[in-house]
Amino acid sequence: MRQSQLFTKTRREAPKDEISQNAQLLIRGGYIHKEMAGVYDLLPLGVKVIEKIRGIIREEMNVLGGQEVSLSVLQEPELWKKTDRWDDDKVDVWFKSEFKSGGAVGLAPTNEEPLAALLRNHVSSYRDLPKYIYQIQTKFRNELRAKSGIMRGREFLMKDMYSFTKTEEELDDFYAAVGVAYEKVFSRVGIGEQTYLTFASGGIFSKYSHEFQTVSTAGEDTIYIDAEKRIAINAEVLNDETLNMLGVNREDLAQAEAIEVANIFKLGTRYAEAVGLTYMTEDGKELPAIMGCYGIGLTRLMGTIVEVLCDDKGIIWPEAVAPFSIHLVEVSDDTEKKKFAADLYRDLVNAGIEVLYDDRELRAGEKFADSDLLGIPYRVIIGKTTSSDSIELVRRKDGDKRTVSREALLAGTYSV
Ligand code: ATP
Ligand code: MG
Repeated sequence: MRQSQLFTKTRREAPKDEISQNAQLLIRGGYIHKEMAGVYDLLPLGVKVIEKIRGIIREEMNVLGGQEVSLSVLQEPELWKKTDRWDDDKVDVWFKSEFKSGGAVGLAPTNEEPLAALLRNHVSSYRDLPKYIYQIQTKFRNELRAKSGIMRGREFLMKDMYSFTKTEEELDDFYAAVGVAYEKVFSRVGIGEQTYLTFASGGIFSKYSHEFQTVSTAGEDTIYIDAEKRIAINAEVLNDETLNMLGVNREDLAQAEAIEVANIFKLGTRYAEAVGLTYMTEDGKELPAIMGCYGIGLTRLMGTIVEVLCDDKGIIWPEAVAPFSIHLVEVSDDTEKKKFAADLYRDLVNAGIEVLYDDRELRAGEKFADSDLLGIPYRVIIGKTTSSDSIELVRRKDGDKRTVSREALLAGTYSV
């Protein structure tokens, strides 16, 4: 992509009412646009990052045997009354509206009820289970406070997976596998080191649920970390019982603020019973399916990556989620060097490397400041002294500078 063609512009200041660092940087870089508190649009660069994150999550969910669906956001009250989750006193984040023809409709804050109800058409026998179903879909929640940028949206993107199993053992096995897959997701997107499997409050069915919490001062949660065991305890369940169960000492735990990037939860038969999702066992008994749910917030994850890895100059994308691999910045004033840059851009694109080419007529200082803000992992600088054997390559995350050949760039061997 030629930067001169990109419709978004970088800006020096974020809107005054935007207090979160992730949204400030993403707005300044032209990744997102703020419509109102908790409501953001994704712009071309933002779409690219989200698509990378989506691809990684989708791959890991498919490895687990997940089947992808896309359920409607519009929800019928009668279904949610069956689980007592329509009433605003029970679920306080509903956005509700009315049909012109009469009758209420809600915007899905989560999807247990509709998916369990839908499965009644497809599950009847023990042979039909287990099943693992997920979607990557917009969720709506009327959050009271939306001050954390894209980490707490009133409209946001979530991957929600639901498991439907016959036995608790089946549920336990899948639940454990999801935990492992989530660890992979977080390490692939570049925040594995800062992210902890965290014991949190459960429900009626199990004592604990598990969160994945990423340590950051921008976090809204407080966790207690056992660095050696690489686990953490959410403040809400920090008590003698939990400490004993995990075999950890209170003195060994370090308190930290953290962002909940994911949550996995054993639901039991509550939803299946309420909506009538049952199956026939091998010996002819009718039983409700056992459910689990597994969520990752994609937009929250994008905001978390920004919060955790940025510096005072801007965003620092890990390679796996960056909108481009290379930022080709031409700063020469020389027609021959401009041609060199344009040719290199063409050849890099043909070699399958994702490049943002800064071909704008701007001062070098402005271009470098924009490049720092955008956070693309590698900057290739084409200036007065550039030649095919000697091209300056700067790594965004640590400023590491090297000289590489045109050939090495095209071969993609620069990232070592
Ligand atoms: P929180 O306690 O932060 O409100 P939650 O417990 O309500 O989160 P879940 O219902 O478990 O969250 O949703 C699954 C995942 O979706 C969360 O782990 C988080 O990553 C993401 N998520 C939840 N609410 C939001 C939101 N308002 N904006 C962006 N992502 C969200
Ligand atoms: Mg919530």
